Amino acid sequence: MLKDLFNKKQKRKYATIPSEQAKKDIPEGLMVKCKQCGTILYKKELEKNLKVCANCGYHFPLTAGERIQMIVDEGTFVEYDKAITSKDPLEFPEYQERLESTMDKTGLNEAVVTGEAQIEGLPVVIGVMDSRFIMASMGSVVGEKITRAIESAIVNKRPFILFSASGGARMQEGILSLMQMGKTSAALSQLDRQGGLFISVLTHPTYGGVSASFASLGDYNIAEPQALIGFAGRRVIEQTIRQKLPDDFQTAEFQLNHGQLDMVVKRALLRERLATILDIHAS
Ligand SMILES: [Zn+2]
Repeated sequence: MLKDLFNKKQKRKYATIPSEQAKKDIPEGLMVKCKQCGTILYKKELEKNLKVCANCGYHFPLTAGERIQMIVDEGTFVEYDKAITSKDPLEFPEYQERLESTMDKTGLNEAVVTGEAQIEGLPVVIGVMDSRFIMASMGSVVGEKITRAIESAIVNKRPFILFSASGGARMQEGILSLMQMGKTSAALSQLDRQGGLFISVLTHPTYGGVSASFASLGDYNIAEPQALIGFAGRRVIEQTIRQKLPDDFQTAEFQLNHGQLDMVVKRALLRERLATILDIHAS
């Protein structure tokens, strides 16, 4: 209730900002507008604040590179399997072109970056999904890279941390995409049987085949504030059950209250929290 009032107030306060004139005065590339509250933020200040809006706490999406830089000890990240790229086994219309243009635009070869690193001196295997790459949908390469990362965690006896952000399975790869759900889950089960630790960090948005497989299988399932997490989206569910869903449906806070998550952690505290968990399990 209190939260509703707060949000409405913010909307009123910033609805008229910026004016058309103010918009023209904002130098290109220097400022960004918060998607949630509309506040105009200095890009440099926003970056210093780990890309969290200083006014409303909205967590802007991060690239895989930004996330890795934020979480691991400087200079410790060694990337795995960088060169693997997707094929187009179904000859799906425009898929090959889309892969190529996305590679050019993002400088990534696929939607997940994996490797090993240290956090506060503790060794880990880490994977980070990047939603700029076809909504970080899971095709055969995403599934393969995650599976190999888990296998490395098993062999090297390191904890595995995965930051998910995904629209779900990659429809352009059909069944080959769906089978990655089983493959990654089986690898995690192997890690579990060997006594390994898996920390899943769900970031905005995590949906579909990703939330229904590895992202929900953490020994710890952690999310960033207000991240939307679910299987099907709100509209699909509302149309199916012909009922209105609560406003906070599928938010991290909603999932926490319904037992689907272990904790919701602000970005500024995330590295420290991960280090604490790693430390507990290391000893
Ligand atoms: Zn904001």
